[in-house]
Amino acid sequence: MTLVQAASLLRTRQISAQELTTAFLERIQRLNPIINAFITVDHEGAMQAAKQADARLNNGTATPMTGIPIGVKDLFCTENLTTTCGSKMLAQFRPPYESTVTRKLKEAGAVILGKTNMDEFAMGSSNETSFFGPVKNPWDISRIPGGSSGGSAAALAAQLALATIGSDTGGSIRQPAALTGITGLKPTYGRVSRSGMIAFASSLDQAGPMAWSAADAAMVLHTIAGYDPLDSTSIQADVPDYVNALATRMDGIRIGIPTEYRPDNLNAEIQKALTEAEQTFRDLGASLVPISLPHTRYAIPTYYIIAPAEASSNLARYDGIRFGYRCDDPKDLKDMYTRSRNEGFGAEVKRRIMLGTYVLSSGYYDAYYRKAQKVRRLIADDFHQAFQHVDLILTPTTPTTAFPLGDKIDDPIAMYLSDLFTISVNLAGLPAMSIPCGADQLGLPIGMQMIAPILKEDKLLSAAHAFQTATPWHQRKPEP
Ligand code: GLN
Repeated sequence: MTLVQAASLLRTRQISAQELTTAFLERIQRLNPIINAFITVDHEGAMQAAKQADARLNNGTATPMTGIPIGVKDLFCTENLTTTCGSKMLAQFRPPYESTVTRKLKEAGAVILGKTNMDEFAMGSSNETSFFGPVKNPWDISRIPGGSSGGSAAALAAQLALATIGSDTGGSIRQPAALTGITGLKPTYGRVSRSGMIAFASSLDQAGPMAWSAADAAMVLHTIAGYDPLDSTSIQADVPDYVNALATRMDGIRIGIPTEYRPDNLNAEIQKALTEAEQTFRDLGASLVPISLPHTRYAIPTYYIIAPAEASSNLARYDGIRFGYRCDDPKDLKDMYTRSRNEGFGAEVKRRIMLGTYVLSSGYYDAYYRKAQKVRRLIADDFHQAFQHVDLILTPTTPTTAFPLGDKIDDPIAMYLSDLFTISVNLAGLPAMSIPCGADQLGLPIGMQMIAPILKEDKLLSAAHAFQTATPWHQRKPEP
């Protein structure tokens, strides 16, 4: 059942929110021990929210999201509900306030089932850096679901929620969406409030919906998007009606195909799926235009300077005093700082803090950080140039399908390359989406990425909806 279908059954009172929530909680109880998609399941809170949802559905104050059971990545602060960010550092953290995203969802009447697993502080592409253990891909539990929003992706693929919320700093919504066969949207930077989202790299982080279809994602985005005075980088622009903007044809739409995203050595099955998708778009009335994004090859090195730099600054607050884990029996103040951070953070987070502190240090700042900011502008300019000629850009989402657990965890560079196709979008602040477009020989999902100009989420969703109306890929589900 999709979110749109469930919303209609709730509205016509063919099912109650309490029945729906109970069904999902039971499924989570049965399958979460295998998949590990949720870190925290909030049985009591969910049942209470479902009860309130039923009251609203009965008294005419319901929204389309009222009674919809969802999962939220464990980096959105939820008042009095543990928010770990996948880290030992915050394993006991109960936020005293609510993130804007979760507040909006609660106000709309959505039922938060729990908090989903993730790479520690959203650093990773496989969900293996979580302090709470790796998430398994429901298509093959010996494989990773992608990351860092791997729990949010796997929860959907295993049908443990009707929609989930992820965050994307360099690909963390789109890459796991591709590897688990679901639909994920990273909005324009500033479209969704970052207030109450635990920060990784503040100039890149953005929250967005993960769902079964573009139509479902449109409903969730409509609920969470909008200006927020609590976030100084929030965009002051009206939220369009994403649901009513959905189209089934693409006549007159020009889709750019960047040569840099089709290397000769691209995985043949992904290449084939993309070629078929291009034909579907032509059949829907779109035209395809070759384009170039010449600075693409600098995206990964640029990101791995800027993101760690911002992370080293953001993560300085976890000192064992105001925030976070504190070591036992410290000898003195310095010992407490050192051991608390040493014991509280995992290896990948420490690697990023060291890298970030290095590129920000005096003497290296100009050579690395300032230079990276300049290259970032060139990467963004490539897109702005391209969008003079095309409405959307189509690329693969990932260079491979889901890889086996353990395959890349000891090789950070190999892991970083998982985001080859997604990272430029964050550097440019653009909205982008991954939707399923095929399967490899093993039946593992293949995703494609569509990128749009700033604030054109409606165009993205519309194209994705047209594609999903014409193809069955988003309806494939793993064997139970
Ligand atoms: N995999 C990338 C990283 O580790 C992106 C993560 C993200 O988008 N949060 O930084």
